[in-house]
Amino acid sequence: LPPFDPADPIGIDDLLSAEDLAIRDTVRDWATDRVLPHIAEWYENGELPGIRELARELGSLGALGMSLQGYGCAGATAVQYGLACLELEAADSGIRSLVSVQGSLAMYAIHRFGSEAQRQQWLPGMAAGEIIGCFGLTEPDHGSDPAGMRTYAKRDGEDWVLTGRKMWITNGSVAGVAVVWAQTDQGGAAGGIRGFVVPTGTPGFSAPEIRHKWSLRASVTSELVLDEVRLPADAVLPGVTGLRGPLSCLSHARYGIVWGAMGAARASFESALDYAKAREQFGRPIGGFQLTQAKFADMAVELHKGILLAHHLGRRMDAGRLRPEQVSFGKLNNVREAIEICRTSRTILGANGISLEYPVMRHATNLESVLTYEGTVEMHQLVLGKALTGLDAFR
Ligand code: FAD
Repeated sequence: LPPFDPADPIGIDDLLSAEDLAIRDTVRDWATDRVLPHIAEWYENGELPGIRELARELGSLGALGMSLQGYGCAGATAVQYGLACLELEAADSGIRSLVSVQGSLAMYAIHRFGSEAQRQQWLPGMAAGEIIGCFGLTEPDHGSDPAGMRTYAKRDGEDWVLTGRKMWITNGSVAGVAVVWAQTDQGGAAGGIRGFVVPTGTPGFSAPEIRHKWSLRASVTSELVLDEVRLPADAVLPGVTGLRGPLSCLSHARYGIVWGAMGAARASFESALDYAKAREQFGRPIGGFQLTQAKFADMAVELHKGILLAHHLGRRMDAGRLRPEQVSFGKLNNVREAIEICRTSRTILGANGISLEYPVMRHATNLESVLTYEGTVEMHQLVLGKALTGLDAFR
């Protein structure tokens, strides 16, 4: 029998190909080298300095729009994209958020719903990390229920004129291009929602940064202000109308979170395990106490079940068989369990657990955002509740 590996107790690596493992190692090495030495300082300062350089490096790694085909994208499998998300989030959820928003939201929207000209114009630069993208759906008064959004695009001759505000937009202030979802008078109510590709230098567009966050501090989060932003007729994404557009982008990004959250959990677990073997109280390592071991056993069970679930969903995505409800299943479970693992790890580190010298509190506070964005816990419970019962409890 192969020996027991504490890093892979149920042998999930057996499911991975040599190429999967190589991609995972490359991303892990990059994050260890480029993010981990600095992340505590960035977090404390509430900034992500050198974000443009980081984006270019992530582009060189092939991590931006990683599972998209063509236009300079890596064309990786969904499982490989997931492994990258896990490794990036093991460093920090802010770095994984940068990659998710770039690849799964902004690039995915243009790739899936854009015209050929839009794809040619934006995707190669975004895949290379030369152009950063953001995705504006949430508004100050419309989060879980985006159908009522107020941002409005009206026609003026051939042009579109966009007015409104978006809130909590990752990458907003550093983006060169924003995919903005707005109400139009075509189709009525939610049916009239269209996506627009907005170069952020367009007059009337501004993106003030949101400061004073206690979560995702090493991530740029912004408001988008659209004050009569005039766009040409071809700025609209031609391939979709209605909420189906943003929701399918979100489903893709959520899939990455199913993996990513397990990265934050793994980093916290490993930190607690190292600590528990070295820290002594009552004359012995705290890892030798039964209560501590129970915590490790329970955390390991949830961590590796979560990774197995992510892997299963990845294979379904690669086979073209992944339903949105299944992504909700994964996000609901994995983010909820990841945050529990971070909190339990924090208890094992005692007072040191609250220090930025260890990663656990940073991961735990990051996951508060991850629990809320891309659909809150409650939204995913309602999605599953509806799928299970056939009854809609949203409103
Ligand atoms: P609300 O929708 O007001 O919900 C508040 C609470 O009420 C939640 O617990 C919710 O589950 C609950 N609730 C609401 N309706 C129901 C119901 N019917 N039944 C039961 N409970 C209900 N958005 C973007 O568009 N682009 C981004 O790049 C982006 N990045 C983000 C980055 C960060 C750091 C954060 C924190 C958020 C980001 N968001 C982004 C916004 C995020 O998607 C929203 O915060 C999320 O959708 C929830 O919306 P809300 O905050 O308005 O909460």
